[in-house]
Amino acid sequence: MSKLKNKVTVVTGGNSGIGFGIAEAFRNEGAVGAITGRNEKTLNDAVAILGADFISIAGDVTNSNDLENTFKKTFDTFGKIDVLVVNAGGVVDGQQMGTIDQVTEENYDSYMNLNLKSAYFTVQKSLPYLNDGASIILIGSSAAHRAAPGMAIYAAAKAAILALAKGLSLDLLPRKIRVNALSPGSIDTPVFGKLVSEEHLEQVKQMWIDITPVGRQGLPSDIGHAAVFLASDDSSFIVGTEILSDGGLTNIS
Ligand code: NDP
Repeated sequence: MSKLKNKVTVVTGGNSGIGFGIAEAFRNEGAVGAITGRNEKTLNDAVAILGADFISIAGDVTNSNDLENTFKKTFDTFGKIDVLVVNAGGVVDGQQMGTIDQVTEENYDSYMNLNLKSAYFTVQKSLPYLNDGASIILIGSSAAHRAAPGMAIYAAAKAAILALAKGLSLDLLPRKIRVNALSPGSIDTPVFGKLVSEEHLEQVKQMWIDITPVGRQGLPSDIGHAAVFLASDDSSFIVGTEILSDGGLTNIS
C-alpha cells in the first residue's frame, strides 16, 4: 500500500541531489506536491521526471517573500500541505568553506544564513499553510557529529538543526506537527562538484567510500526512503529527534 497516498509535500531544493531523491521517493509512495530551487532549468527537468502531480516553484530560501510565495502557491494548487522537507542548503554559490584563518565574516554569515537561518524561516513561513498533524523533516548532516577539516561553520549550522528539531517540536506540539531531523552521511550528489575540482572529484569520493563502514557513498534514494518513513504515519511516535542515514560513518573515529 502507498504510504503517502494523497499527501501534499513540499521539498526545498528538490531539483537536485538529495532533495530530488526525496521527491522521487515521495512520488513513488503516492504523494503529490511542489519542489523548489533557484535554477529554472533543473526545476523543469526534475518536474518532467516526477510527473504531472508535481509542480516547481522558483525561489531563494534566504528570501522571505520567496518562501511565502512557495507555500501560498502550493496551498492554492493542492488545497493543503501535509509534509515539509527543509533540504535546500549545503554550499553557498561561489564561496568555499575553509579553516578559521580563511573564513571572513561574509563567509560565516552566508553559510549560517543558508544552512540555519533559512531553515528556521522556511518552517515559520510554512505554518499558516501547514495542516495540523503535519510532518516537518529538517535535513541535517553527519558533519554535526563527525568533524572534517575546514567545515566547522557548516557543521555548527547543521548541529543547530538538531536543536531546532527539538525546540520547534515543542513549539508546534499544540498543532500536533512533528519535527524531526534527518541527517545524511556522504551522499553522491552534485554538491561534490561544487566543493572540489573535476581533477580531484573521484579521489575525494573514494576517500568517503573508504571511511564509510558499508563501503559506499549513499544514494539520494537512501535518504528518500528514510524521509518516507518520517513523513508517514509509521513514525507518528517519533518527535523532535534525529535519524542518521550515514552507512555507519559516525560510528568510527
Ligand atoms: P546539491 O548541491 O545537489 O543540492 C542543493 C539544493 O539546494 C539544490 O536543489 C539547490 O537548488 C538548493 N539551494 C541551494 N541554495 C539555495 C538557495 N539559496 N535558495 C533555494 N535553494 C537553494 O546538494 P545535496 O543534495 O548534496 O544537499 C542537499 C542537502 O543535504 C543540504 O542541506 C546539504 O547540506 C545536506 N547534506 C548533504 C550531504 C551530501 O553528502 N551530499 C551530506 C549531509 C547533508 P538551486 O541551486 O536551484 O537553488
